Amino acid sequence: MSDFKLGFPAISIIDDADAGAVAVTMPAASVPGVSPRGAGGGREPAGPGSHHAHVVIVGSGPAGLTAAIYAARANLAPIVIGGYVTGGQLMITSEVENFPGFPEAIQGPELMARFREQAHRFGTRIVDVDLDRVDLSSRPFHLWAGGVEYTADSIVVATGASALWLGLENETRLRGRGVSACATCDGFFFRGKKVAVVGGGDTALEEATFLTRFASEVVLLHRRDQLRGSKIMQQRALDNPKVSVRWNTEVVDVLGEQVVDGLRLRDTVDGSESDEPVQGLFLAIGYKPNTDVFRDWLEVDDKGYLVVHDETGSAVEGVFIAGDVHDHRYRQAVTAAADGCKAAIDAERWLEAKGIAQAGTATAW
Ligand code: NAP
Repeated sequence: MSDFKLGFPAISIIDDADAGAVAVTMPAASVPGVSPRGAGGGREPAGPGSHHAHVVIVGSGPAGLTAAIYAARANLAPIVIGGYVTGGQLMITSEVENFPGFPEAIQGPELMARFREQAHRFGTRIVDVDLDRVDLSSRPFHLWAGGVEYTADSIVVATGASALWLGLENETRLRGRGVSACATCDGFFFRGKKVAVVGGGDTALEEATFLTRFASEVVLLHRRDQLRGSKIMQQRALDNPKVSVRWNTEVVDVLGEQVVDGLRLRDTVDGSESDEPVQGLFLAIGYKPNTDVFRDWLEVDDKGYLVVHDETGSAVEGVFIAGDVHDHRYRQAVTAAADGCKAAIDAERWLEAKGIAQAGTATAW
């Protein structure tokens, strides 16, 4: 165990040996104004080593960590099962210019580090492992992650959404060898090279613009003749002399033996095919909600997103939903964060109504 400072009172890093992962925790007692005692009846809420919490939050993006901040400030000592890849989509985003409070913009990973630090400050315990399985048939609910069984009086599902792929055989084979879904992660490797970006939304426009920092040329491939992305992002990409657009174009194959050296493209209007020499292919065609673990228990809509009732509620009493895992309309960090806040407040009020935990301070400033 070691201690370090994050600008707050000492925070302890403990090895969560059971979980095979590093968990970071801060005793609530060491935070001014926060009671060391868990609220209310039921079992003891999570302390270091405990595998039970009044609220277990699944996901560590803006929704999950905001839920954690609110639940922790309500003395609910939440456990966050954050996933091996923590922080959600902002971890693969470069500049975030539209998150309020950062007029100069902030890098996505830095923003998420701040969310995490703030969640720790009030006594959240974060376990960086993937959730394997849940049983929501009775309360307390059961969750299995990293070989450890957790129990929870309530759950906030904030598992977000993941990048989509085209599903081509050679796209999969050459992933990591020229094919990527993250310009921020991999753009650096394409210095002086010609790359293509697939998609017509804000992600594609953002990735295309970002890639011009490295690539000699960026070809945006869009299946229609009109972009879906916002006007400002369109302008920024299209004004860049390194960016060109091939309209009405889809990728039918990725060429190259060891690494990508081209794409076979099809014109969506006349069906003609042609080859385009590129060394990199970046996919930016949207996201799939991460619902696999919950599919047997919670309702999903026709696009695969979780269905919410009455703001953040689910089909299972005591299970709340927040962020991109249900929201295919707004999908913004700020809306996900707001959703996480609502889910934590709903969980707190539900726990209180059930007599499981007493009222806390979630909404206090
Ligand atoms: P999106 O808006 O759903 O756009 C996906 C794009 O990929 C669309 O243009 C779509 O074409 C295309 N596409 C989908 N499946 C395809 C396929 N199989 N083959 C070829 N093309 C395909 O997704 P997004 O761009 O990831 O944006 C998601 C949300 O995040 C949006 O609300 C966006 O505003 C937001 N966002 C904001 C920022 C920012 O403000 N900094 C940055 C990134 C994302 P069609 O147009 O023909 O459907």
